[in-house]
Amino acid sequence: MSVVKRTSKNVLLDTALENFYGAAEEMGLEDGLVEILSRPERAICVSLPIAMDDGSIRVFEGYRVQHSTALGPAKGGFRYHPDVNLEECEALGSLMTWKCSLSGIPYGGGKGGIACDPLELSMSEKERLTRTFAARVAPIVGEWEDVPAPDVNTGAQEMVWFMDTISKMRGKFEPGVVTGKPISIWGSKGRTAATGLGVSACIKELLVAQNIPVKGARIIIQGFGNVGSYAAKFMSEAGAKIVGISDVTGGYHAPDGIDVKRAFDHVTNHPKKMLEGFSQPGLKQLSGEEILEVEADVLAPCALEGAVNAKNAGKIKAKYIVEGANGPVTPEADEILSSMGIVIVPDFLANSGGVIGSYFEWVQNLGGYFWTEDEYNNRLMPIMTDNFHRVWNYSKTHGVKMRRAAFLVAIKRVADAVKIRGTFL
Ligand code: GLU
Repeated sequence: MSVVKRTSKNVLLDTALENFYGAAEEMGLEDGLVEILSRPERAICVSLPIAMDDGSIRVFEGYRVQHSTALGPAKGGFRYHPDVNLEECEALGSLMTWKCSLSGIPYGGGKGGIACDPLELSMSEKERLTRTFAARVAPIVGEWEDVPAPDVNTGAQEMVWFMDTISKMRGKFEPGVVTGKPISIWGSKGRTAATGLGVSACIKELLVAQNIPVKGARIIIQGFGNVGSYAAKFMSEAGAKIVGISDVTGGYHAPDGIDVKRAFDHVTNHPKKMLEGFSQPGLKQLSGEEILEVEADVLAPCALEGAVNAKNAGKIKAKYIVEGANGPVTPEADEILSSMGIVIVPDFLANSGGVIGSYFEWVQNLGGYFWTEDEYNNRLMPIMTDNFHRVWNYSKTHGVKMRRAAFLVAIKRVADAVKIRGTFL
């Protein structure tokens, strides 16, 4: 490969580029395709002036990056977090391209977000922020252009504000402009739980492939938001023992198993949807860091990027890591964990249930269908298990890590699409 490789001071983007170049080199991807796929097709920054409840005006920064539309409309969430920036959206957007490609769904990849602390915003401030964001990115989103979805700190309410703003601006109802909507407004039964269900499917397939009985397998779930809470729920329903859970309020360790239903109800009823104050007999309160180091078969980091890093990787005692979050294991940690013999199921395979579920919602929106939850789940599960085995088998037959295997499979499908479509003019 003779291209000048891009690098970035942003760790997530640098990692995304390094992973891409590494796989591209290994598969002998042509230089022109390497150049095309190492850059986003389009990236926009928008400023969002918001009238705050106290009468002042604050201007927030928002972003939307479309990494690729070779396979179809760009697809990927938008998040609300103080650390959101353009490079992060670029990195996560490229991850969405590989995720959609690997999943076999007809989408490209994108990501967006607003740099803000949602905990400091009132409902009406959040509504104005979301609607202003929708208005500012309106020229580049649409059912066949770019379809956002929930991500960190965004959910059904933000999606419906987004869809409503776009629909009103266009003077027509456009439900498929966004996925992850509430069930009452063209959302899909099953979508909320889809990412967690997919993570649990990967954990189960992994355990079975390694001859570890699912019943009684010890699992740690870091992060108890939309992904982690449902992954914990489905694993515990399958008979696994959830020995640890955590969120920003700390870690909760129960060697004999957390009562997940109780934790779930606790979070649902908590004003800020947190585990804070959760208790059960025999529960030990640990820090968010300590929970990662508990003895277990599988650790599923389901919160933010960089949770497992060079500082704590050496202390992990789980045998397997299933990445429910996007980018939770840094490249240095990946090296350390591999040298310890720990197998990692990569993010864009493990958490792809969310976007596959989004695809189902979009298909129903375009066709005006409303599937039952069983119809939805019965379509999702075989796709997840097939994808897991495709990557697992590729990794075994080619003697590469699962992350590299997933990149090789995903890049090939996108590169073939770029090639056959050709460059414009
Ligand atoms: N935010 C989720 C992800 O990172 C879902 C994206 C989508 O459904 O478009 O996969």
